[in-house]
Amino acid sequence: MKPTPIRESVTTIGHDGTRRFLQPALIFGSWWRARRAVAWLLIAFFAALPWIEIDGFPAVFLDVEHRHFHLLGTMMGLGDIWLLFFVITGWGFLIYATTALLGRIWCGWACPQTVYLEHVFRVVDRLFEGDHVSRAKLDDQPWSAPNKMLRRGARAFAYLVLCWAVAHIFLAYFISIPGLYPMITDAPLAHPAAFVAMAIATGLLFFNFWWFREQLCLIVCPYGRLQSALIDDDSVIVGYDEKRGEPHGKAAPGIPTGDCVDCRRCVQVCPTGIDIRHGLQMECIACTACVDACDDVMTKLKRPTGLVRYASLRELNGGKTRFLRPRTVLYAALLVIGLIVASIAVLRVQPAAFKLSRPPQTELYALSEASVANVFRAKIQNKDEIPRRFFISAESPATKVTVLNQSVGMVIAPLTEITLPLTLLVDRQDYRGEFNFMLRLRSEDGEISLLQKAHFIGPDPRTLKQ
Ligand code: SF4
Ligand code: SF4
Repeated sequence: MKPTPIRESVTTIGHDGTRRFLQPALIFGSWWRARRAVAWLLIAFFAALPWIEIDGFPAVFLDVEHRHFHLLGTMMGLGDIWLLFFVITGWGFLIYATTALLGRIWCGWACPQTVYLEHVFRVVDRLFEGDHVSRAKLDDQPWSAPNKMLRRGARAFAYLVLCWAVAHIFLAYFISIPGLYPMITDAPLAHPAAFVAMAIATGLLFFNFWWFREQLCLIVCPYGRLQSALIDDDSVIVGYDEKRGEPHGKAAPGIPTGDCVDCRRCVQVCPTGIDIRHGLQMECIACTACVDACDDVMTKLKRPTGLVRYASLRELNGGKTRFLRPRTVLYAALLVIGLIVASIAVLRVQPAAFKLSRPPQTELYALSEASVANVFRAKIQNKDEIPRRFFISAESPATKVTVLNQSVGMVIAPLTEITLPLTLLVDRQDYRGEFNFMLRLRSEDGEISLLQKAHFIGPDPRTLKQ
């Protein structure tokens, strides 16, 4: 028998710690239709991104092997990894702002776990195993029952194919579609690393969608736990109008009841197995299934819909929702500032990178009859898809510094990084002791110009003159 949800324990875990599998009923309501449309748009977007080319590269291509990251036409190298700071903090502020305003709208509408589970894998469940009643009956049958073996086996196969497809699309973000194609057509052992990555991704997806399911939201995802800190009485959540619904129960002469007829339809459709009438709960992913279910019941009873609806706790208690609040203004302001700074930072990403270091195990300086020499190690990355000729020169107003072997510069192939030794000379007669200076890397066409600070090391000039 399906357990009755209580606030004190998770519905999916029995008293003895065993897992209880939920078989939520499907409700074709207006919210469900809208969520399905959004889900399919998101899935189409996820599948299309690796196919869309901008400036000759996929719109999103995280080429970890060569340490190139293509994002909507901008190419970034490992040296630009600090930009991730903006992505992570921006994402954080976006989540903070939307949660403060609209509760867990992300979970219900856009989280990949909900999108794939509700709109792909549960569709497969219904296709092979029927509605929630048939699925629950199948759960109770032994595996030796031919009906269960056949239906669940076919469903498992469909899951595997879908997980395999999703894993391949995911892999395409890292190796691109042209890179993925030979890996699909060649024998697995021809690309063992990619095969293992794909097999692990398929296995994890299968485990998650076949067995783990809502447990990811209930016991793994930290966002549900964060909601108590992020929302307040004015955040719009999926809530039950207790004032209108209580006391719940079937109408009977002489017994005053609210609009809730205790049909438990809202519980039957809940993918996390909770009863929304118990108030706001960590397990609620704001999927709106209970809204559709209750609206359907109210429509049939010819009562106004909205007994369960999107509303703030303040509104459910008879007040008016305040959208402009210090926390929403602060989160939104931080988000906007972060977006502006991130846009400027991305626009300033150069199509080359230039780094300096000292080669290990070399003398700090060398002396000859005419000069003092310092050796550096220069790392230059051409992030462009065309070969470029680069030159390195020293900028030192006080002391003349000569960079050796830079008369013809060096040509660096597209998307390539080179490391080369750089010898810098200062004439003895010009040398006045250690000093700071700048090294400039510039491309032949003048499009790229990057500066690096350097320090010239040498002996005490007084000892040099002796
Ligand atoms: S679906 Fe509506 S009427 Fe039925 S139990 Fe839930 S809240 Fe009450
Ligand atoms: S309580 Fe309602 S909105 Fe929350 S998870 Fe359950 S069905 Fe979805």
